[in-house]
Amino acid sequence: MTITRTDVLVVGAGPAGLTAAIALGRAGAHVTLVERRTALSPFPRATGVSLRTMELLRAWGLEHDIRAGALDVGTDGWIGPALTAPGQTVPTGFPNPAQAAELSPTTPAIAPQDHLEPVLLRHLQSLTGTDVRFGAEVVAVEQDDDGVRADVRTATGVETVYARYVIGADGARSAVRRAADIGMTGPGDVGAYLAVVFRGPVADLLGEPRHGLHMLVRPGPPWVMLPTDRTDRWVFSMTWDPASESLDDYPRERLVELVRAAAGAPDLPVDIVWTGDFTFTALIADTYRDRRLFLVGDAAHRMTPRGAAGMNTAIHDGYDLGWKLGWVLKGWADESLLDSYETERYPVGLRNVERSAVGAARRDVSADYLDELADRIPHAWLPDGRSTLDLLGSGLTLLAGPQGASWVDQAMGLRHDGAVPVEARTVDASTAGVLGIGASGAVLVRPDGRPTTRWAAAPAASALGLAVRAVLFDLDPGRTRDGRSEAA
Ligand SMILES: Cc1cc2nc3c(=O)[nH]c(=O)nc-3n(C[C@H](O)[C@H](O)[C@H](O)COP(=O)(O)OP(=O)(O)OC[C@H]3O[C@@H](n4cnc5c(N)ncnc54)[C@H](O)[C@@H]3O)c2cc1C
Repeated sequence: MTITRTDVLVVGAGPAGLTAAIALGRAGAHVTLVERRTALSPFPRATGVSLRTMELLRAWGLEHDIRAGALDVGTDGWIGPALTAPGQTVPTGFPNPAQAAELSPTTPAIAPQDHLEPVLLRHLQSLTGTDVRFGAEVVAVEQDDDGVRADVRTATGVETVYARYVIGADGARSAVRRAADIGMTGPGDVGAYLAVVFRGPVADLLGEPRHGLHMLVRPGPPWVMLPTDRTDRWVFSMTWDPASESLDDYPRERLVELVRAAAGAPDLPVDIVWTGDFTFTALIADTYRDRRLFLVGDAAHRMTPRGAAGMNTAIHDGYDLGWKLGWVLKGWADESLLDSYETERYPVGLRNVERSAVGAARRDVSADYLDELADRIPHAWLPDGRSTLDLLGSGLTLLAGPQGASWVDQAMGLRHDGAVPVEARTVDASTAGVLGIGASGAVLVRPDGRPTTRWAAAPAASALGLAVRAVLFDLDPGRTRDGRSEAA
């Protein structure tokens, strides 16, 4: 029998698992990622890559590769009776380019998941210490105080993987979640949809500006049409009733007529590529963790596509847990840092699940994008053309005002082998103002941009050391699972 030993076993090569594995790999951990499919999913699924997601991908040097497969469309939605009829734009919860430029060094993108996932996979496979296996399904998970044992079924038999931690990034029907006997709570199924992936020259029917989402108003819930590649691949979806209908009731001719009706083009050439059904489901796991088992992405929360938060929340979960676990494995942080994964990510998951159950028709989504930026330092362009976000390193970063030279000395004093690096930098007065620290103040920032402590002026020599310790031991008494940190 083949036995593998690894620091972290990541189960599932969707956006959550790929991101978690990259964050761990970049922190130097040995990661084994297993995926039961023999290749990445070929379906476009999510297309909205949010502003915060693009910031994280940009920091990893992947922005260019993502944009290479992004569509030349705006992030606003469009609503009308048919694509060729007059309609109007509607907010989707993503910022437009002008709004994004105020907030960030990048902009959101409309790029399908089957483009994004290969970009993440290539980056993961370029990191040392990472082992990616397709056609490998986790069928059993058991943990004790020392680690986790997982049985992984492959084409040649069942292998055993011993890991210090397991990340369940295995989607809506998570085997890791079931092994940990973690339940899910929430509204549950809130709609049943039929989805059709097709190819056709729909773009020829459309004027400018182009949109990433079209809602077609009908009696009952709107139909949806989404462009999902740079040429002619589209998705059409509509509600249906699986209790009284089956896919057999939708032969190719009927689907073609539905697509043409949605387009408002009776002669549109339509090549049906795939047809299937899915439910809109809104649920959240009762906990994101059972000792050495963690849940990320759809394994932790199921969102409807409304608000386009499912994939983005999955990526943010994977990123958050990945760097924290990486720091614990490196010996930079205490295990208690891992408690902050649930306290920080559960409230976000809960909010996004609840929002996705309601949808844009019944609430104002126009400023939703601000929420995912709320926990990081503000972006400002520096005189050298970089963003404040570009100053963040893989350890902690101390940003001090222009008269903050003593901060740099304090940070130097914390340097010793095996300790988390604290990189101190002074910034110009204007940037210090944006960061809210003044000329001789400073702010301590985690690698994800979250400010942990702010000082208005240089304090006693021990203050920085204590603040660093508070991050590494997750000493943040102001935070609970149901509320944001009061710190900073
Ligand atoms: C039709 C459809 C449309 C969608 N549209 C949108 C949208 O517009 N916007 C949006 O944000 N989101 C959308 N989503 C949701 C989005 O795709 C998910 O939120 C996202 O993929 C979650 O990523 P994940 O990595 O958590 O899970 P997944 O992408 O589901 O990845 C989980 C992976 O784990 C693997 N796996 C499962 N069990 C095991 C096991 N035991 N062992 C090994 N591997 C295992 C699976 O094969 C899969 O590859 C849509 C989803 C669907 C199905």
